[in-house]
Amino acid sequence: LEYAPVHLKELFGSIFEMMQPAAAKKSIVMVQDIPEHLFIEGDEDRLKQIFMNLLSNAINYTLEGGRVKVDVDVIDVDGDEEKVRIAVSDTGIGIPKKDLPRIFERFYRVDKARSRSSGGTGLGLSIVKHLTELHHGTLRVESKVGEGSSFILELPFMQQHEEEGYEAE
Ligand code: ATP
Ligand code: MG
Repeated sequence: LEYAPVHLKELFGSIFEMMQPAAAKKSIVMVQDIPEHLFIEGDEDRLKQIFMNLLSNAINYTLEGGRVKVDVDVIDVDGDEEKVRIAVSDTGIGIPKKDLPRIFERFYRVDKARSRSSGGTGLGLSIVKHLTELHHGTLRVESKVGEGSSFILELPFMQQHEEEGYEAE
């Protein structure tokens, strides 16, 4: 990984631009609530890969006229440690409870019939999970069938970002 400070608002600005046409095709509104001056340490290309995957899922598995949202917050963990929480939420079809434990597995897809038309391979979320772990983060999902899904990442937060990037992994 090539670590460097990544400005989250800028990162999502460029990701939203790339995803906009796919969302517009389905009249899906994309919104974001991201603090102005927030950086995390990470590999920009890999972070892009994470959020492109999550957002393309959110758009794919949401019906016409739905909404996709990115929320970023700094949260307290154990009193003094802080983390950055990034949630990608949609108003989509949701994921059945019985499938939730398996969706991060390679090639796992919920109900092949319903998702065949979207032509995915079932690799996206396993890659997202792997890349999140490389960034020392955690990934979880909350979902209700017919209401929507939220994919929640928590990543280490660096208050004072370094001037120079450094290499890791
Ligand atoms: P691809 O490899 O192209 O990403 P995929 O989207 O099918 O294919 P994953 O991204 O790994 O594969 O997702 C696995 C499965 O989890 C999907 O097939 C879908 O059934 C379900 N899923 C993922 N994201 C969502 C979501 N936001 N809403 C509802 N179901 C979802
Ligand atoms: Mg996918």
